[in-house]
Amino acid sequence: PVTFRLAVFGDPIEQSKSPQIHQMFAEQTGVQITYQKIKGEVDSFTDQLAEFFRHEDAMGVNVTMPFKEQAAAWADTRSISVEQASAANTLIKTSSGIIAETTDGKGLVSDLLRNNMHINGKTLLLIGAGGAARGAISALLDENPKHIYITNRSPANAQRLVDIANDKRVSSISEGDCAKQTFDLIINATSLSLQGNVPNIPDAVFNTQPNVYDMVYQSEDTSFVRKAKSLGCNNAIDGLGMLVGQAAESFYLWFGLRPNPEPVLAMLRKELSGS
Ligand code: NDP
Repeated sequence: PVTFRLAVFGDPIEQSKSPQIHQMFAEQTGVQITYQKIKGEVDSFTDQLAEFFRHEDAMGVNVTMPFKEQAAAWADTRSISVEQASAANTLIKTSSGIIAETTDGKGLVSDLLRNNMHINGKTLLLIGAGGAARGAISALLDENPKHIYITNRSPANAQRLVDIANDKRVSSISEGDCAKQTFDLIINATSLSLQGNVPNIPDAVFNTQPNVYDMVYQSEDTSFVRKAKSLGCNNAIDGLGMLVGQAAESFYLWFGLRPNPEPVLAMLRKELSGS
């Protein structure tokens, strides 16, 4: 059987779980792959990509920080969500050239739905307006929410994201005004949990027990998940499933096969908790 060549480019890259995740997907689906971690070089990243894709068995790559913008620009064609986000995390080799895709948003949505966090007809609060929020917005809109409010420390960045989304179901809201709305689902797309901090939104947003999702994942509940749970939101989870979900979407784009995220998620959770 053919062995397909895959890789993830980033810097830093040592900590990447992608090789492990994709090896498990490959075993599940009976595909033969090699999946390398490659440290990207800012000045020669596109040369590195070109060199990788010169291999006849090269099927695709994942791209992580800080190369997502360069990868999007280098590809021959871009999906609509890549155009919107100006960033790609997946490149696919096809007979008509290299296609750039972004699977973070779909990975997020699949994890939300798997955890009974419904989007269709619901009112969402998206906290943060960086790359992660930008990558999520079009996948969230595809699921037909009633409205998505975006709040952010820097209001101008939230407004910029509203402008990018260009959809009447998306608007910005100040952190303080969040108390005036009722949300069914709150998604934290900031990096605050990495420092053990939480966004500066009023506690009142948790009164109606919305579903709560934090894109950051850690060995224990993140600070945002802890806060939500302490205020009575029992359906509150971190972003490990989004990591697995985005990988599953990339795998699907390369091979047309849908792996099962559950055993991979269980393995990563066990590894994270050090048991
Ligand atoms: P960016 O640096 O692009 O954006 C950071 C966001 O967090 C901005 O909205 C920024 O607000 C806000 N922020 C940062 N520090 C503070 C602070 N001290 N107080 C208030 N707001 C703050 O990061 P990304 O969007 O790329 O990533 C965000 C997080 O999402 C990362 O921590 C990453 O771990 C996680 N992530 C998880 C994924 C997964 O698969 N689970 C995938 C992708 C990302 P401002 O505009 O005001 O600067």
